[in-house]
Amino acid sequence: ANYKNASKHIAVLAFPFGTHAVPLLRMVRQLSDASPGVVFSFLSTEQSNNSTFPKDEKLDNIKPFHVGDGLPEGYSFKGNPHEPVEYFVKALPGNFREAIDALVAETGKRIDCLITDAFYWFAADIADELNVPWLALWTAGPRAFFIHAETDVIRRHVGINGPPDKALDFHQEFSAISNADLPDGITSGNFDAPVPALLDKMGPSMSRATAIAANSYEDLDNTVVNLLKSRFNMFLNIGPFNLASGSPIDDTHGCLDWLNKHNQASVVYISFGSVISPPPHELAALSEALEESDLPYLWSFRGNPEKQLPPGFLERTSSKGKIVPWAPQLKILENQSVGVFVTHGGWNSVLESIIGGVPMILRPFFGDQRLNTRTVESVWGFGLGLEGGTITKEGTKKALNSILSTEEGNKMRLKIGVQKELARKAVQPNGSSAENFKTLVKIINTTCHQ
Ligand code: UDP
Repeated sequence: ANYKNASKHIAVLAFPFGTHAVPLLRMVRQLSDASPGVVFSFLSTEQSNNSTFPKDEKLDNIKPFHVGDGLPEGYSFKGNPHEPVEYFVKALPGNFREAIDALVAETGKRIDCLITDAFYWFAADIADELNVPWLALWTAGPRAFFIHAETDVIRRHVGINGPPDKALDFHQEFSAISNADLPDGITSGNFDAPVPALLDKMGPSMSRATAIAANSYEDLDNTVVNLLKSRFNMFLNIGPFNLASGSPIDDTHGCLDWLNKHNQASVVYISFGSVISPPPHELAALSEALEESDLPYLWSFRGNPEKQLPPGFLERTSSKGKIVPWAPQLKILENQSVGVFVTHGGWNSVLESIIGGVPMILRPFFGDQRLNTRTVESVWGFGLGLEGGTITKEGTKKALNSILSTEEGNKMRLKIGVQKELARKAVQPNGSSAENFKTLVKIINTTCHQ
């Protein structure tokens, strides 16, 4: 990156876990394409930068910088995905403050604007100190954002540790959601855990952001979007990002050729995202449900399928199924042969399912995933949660059958098909996301230091 001749220098602060840094870099790449002359310094942990930045492509005006990960000397990962997150959150905001100082010293270029993951409440203070605008990216859905913005109201209304099945009737838009669907630390659970504590501080600080961008589009959850637009300086839906910018397809395992051999809406695609792996008994139940339903399946499997799936399952289903360690998910969901997506309900996965027009079966684990599940099932009506919230053989067989072989499933396909078209329209020229994106570019060009 050419810092010397840059017209502006923007520091970008990424959250280095789950699928957070990837959409942030997507947005920054789009901003960079629209703002030649601006350099972006992208701050994340070394591990996150290594997996987020493309290997075979150089980004001219976006340069990765590493921040401390907060891990103790000699730390070794033992399998709990929440542990590194907790160490990292404990190192905030000191690690970013140090990195920003080092960045300015190294490049000789002061910072003109701050773009961060919306998780970083402290960015409001740093932006004030630097006297620059703060743009935040919320990488999940508008409904989850509203929950964090309204945490105090929700706590007053439904109480702390109240009944799990109590409806969130603090607002009519939320009456289909219940207490138990909320992220941990809103009305129950461990309030002091690092991520809930971070999000608790995020709510009140967001009104200090010059603009909040979100990876969604205005027609999805429009009433909630309008509430947010009326409440914040600028709430700009500019997604879905991966519709707005194509990325090269890595299909080393031949998933797409395999899918092309199958009938329309017949294949079960399974993935639980980049963090979670369901417990062994649920993996076994899912395998049995697939086998007994005799359905073709494509499974993006984190871990070792030979060791973790029931003995003989792989052999018995070898003509029906394909298991890969990582898949080109968006392209898979866009393939005509995929009929249902078994997912953990991460926001990126929900959006990609919409882009593909594929109804979902959701097995949520943490964060916004329960909320997304209930919203997809009860508000939008294009997916199913599982009875009891976990994967059982019978529950999964029933849900698979319902989506793939019943009128109810066809209706879901039609409903999600409507959103698919709206999402595509949003990113076309003059679409709402395209227009909102122009506003964001304008903010960078007019309010940041000159
Ligand atoms: N993903 C992928 N290939 C896989 C599994 C996941 O490309 O085999 C991508 C998926 O397309 C999505 C992201 O990983 O963009 C998962 O994000 P999500 O928000 O759903 O879940 P998280 O990873 O944050 O738990």
